[in-house]
Amino acid sequence: MTISASSIVLLRCPVCGHLTPRGISLFDFGGGRTFRLDCTCGTTLLVMGRRGSSFWIQYRCNLCDSIHTLTKSLKEIWSQEPLILTCKETEMVVGCLAPRGLVEVLTWT
Ligand SMILES: [Zn+2]
Ligand SMILES: [Zn+2]
Repeated sequence: MTISASSIVLLRCPVCGHLTPRGISLFDFGGGRTFRLDCTCGTTLLVMGRRGSSFWIQYRCNLCDSIHTLTKSLKEIWSQEPLILTCKETEMVVGCLAPRGLVEVLTWT
């Protein structure tokens, strides 16, 4: 199994509309730490943590302005495939978590 230990997480802020890309790596979770992505306006966009071999992700949705939760395995998160974050209400794409180099391929409006 190929692990991409370094990825980019990308989400748009529902409050100010700013698109925030941030590097994230497996090492951010060392010692039971959680990863947090805050917008420059102070809005928390995403919180992510590890529980054993799986990861939970809570992200602020810019479409319905609620918080969606996702649980994925280590393998699903740190693979070469982008993980698309969708709105549970509308099934539209609201963000992604992808290996470095792949993010540029995805287009965002
Ligand atoms: Zn913001
Ligand atoms: Zn939503």
